[in-house]
Amino acid sequence: MSEKAFVDALTSTNNRYVLEKIDEMLEKMGQESRFSVVMIDIDHFKKINDTYGHETGDMVLKTLVEKIKRLIRSSDILVRYGGEEFVIYLPHADVKDALKLAERIRKAVENMLIKTSDGREVRITVSLGVAERKPGESLEKVIKKADEALYRAKKGGRNRVSD
Ligand code: GH3
Ligand code: MG
Ligand code: MG
Repeated sequence: MSEKAFVDALTSTNNRYVLEKIDEMLEKMGQESRFSVVMIDIDHFKKINDTYGHETGDMVLKTLVEKIKRLIRSSDILVRYGGEEFVIYLPHADVKDALKLAERIRKAVENMLIKTSDGREVRITVSLGVAERKPGESLEKVIKKADEALYRAKKGGRNRVSD
């Protein structure tokens, strides 16, 4: 997984092609193993870019990734899914485990104070959706469920976790 083709250039996390690799691996394992997915999206990130500039936006993305990496296990897989959207694949985790981690991330991000090179201070929040794999579901399906949960978290007012 360390090949360049699977690494996101900005944040040095896995890019979304890694999800295809995980899916292949799951198929080999006979679709039976338990896992959960956490989907993370920065709240009003467009406004961060508009207010502080795109470069600061990039720096915020990198800072967020460093924070998340410190909160996950070495067996968890963090993927940059889209611009300001991340997926964490949690092997063996049920929805309770996933909710716990998601809430830890939410809190940590809320308390994060990011300093720009010109001395300004930026704060962000994230919304998170979690989902557990049910028997027979593909990774794609579980990600879709997490995305729907994320949508509910956004609808519910952002800076929150939903399942
Ligand atoms: P919401 O709370 O609904 O998620 O609002 P939002 O503004 O975060 O969502 P929206 O999808 O409207 O905007 C996402 C923004 O993320 C717009 C885009 O410019 C920014 N973005 C995506 N990728 C990057 C990147 O690599 N660097 C920077 N600086 N910004 C990015
Ligand atoms: Mg967003
Ligand atoms: Mg988004």
